[in-house]
Amino acid sequence: MHRGLLQNHLPERGCKVNYSTIKYCDIANGEGVRTTLFVSGCRRRCPFCFNEEAWSFAAGRLFDDETQNAILASLEPAYIDGLSVLGGEPMEPENQRGLVSFLETVKARYPEKSIWCYTGDTYEELVSGPKRTEDTERLLASIDVLVDGPFIQELKDITLRFRGSSNQRIIDMAATRAAGKVVLWADDPVFATHTMD
Ligand code: SF4
Repeated sequence: MHRGLLQNHLPERGCKVNYSTIKYCDIANGEGVRTTLFVSGCRRRCPFCFNEEAWSFAAGRLFDDETQNAILASLEPAYIDGLSVLGGEPMEPENQRGLVSFLETVKARYPEKSIWCYTGDTYEELVSGPKRTEDTERLLASIDVLVDGPFIQELKDITLRFRGSSNQRIIDMAATRAAGKVVLWADDPVFATHTMD
């Protein structure tokens, strides 16, 4: 049974988001089994970018009501742990504006499930730096885990879970909000230490 689909929740103030891919039952981009959304648009132009076709904000398809409802429905089963949002760059101003009401809806409808977001920006750049917009506070309030910082080829480490290079942090946003400083997400010890001890 679905909990009801969303009506009239297209991105606010006429700002539209495009997306390139949605993966269902994804286990690579966050804890557990997840729905993963890859939005279009990125100005970072990282060396060795794996996804150059996502630089254009016009790439892919419009993230319309039908697509948003499909994601909401995909989150319903008990075995789905939550939603992950990647890019492109979800924290480009246009994408922040286009995603904020949708992520708030996901959080309101599925408070027991987690929202992970991957960004090339740092937490500090988003909270008080150049990437802060009038939508950032609301957006971050909907996110449970923020994987922040750019991928750096020289710091690539294939043993890391859920991140590509060692400069990237996996931030527990609820704990960070409570502490007033960055608190890292605690991985399962089996995975964090690569041991069964
Ligand atoms: S942030 Fe991601 S999509 Fe954007 S240039 Fe860097 S690797 Fe590519």
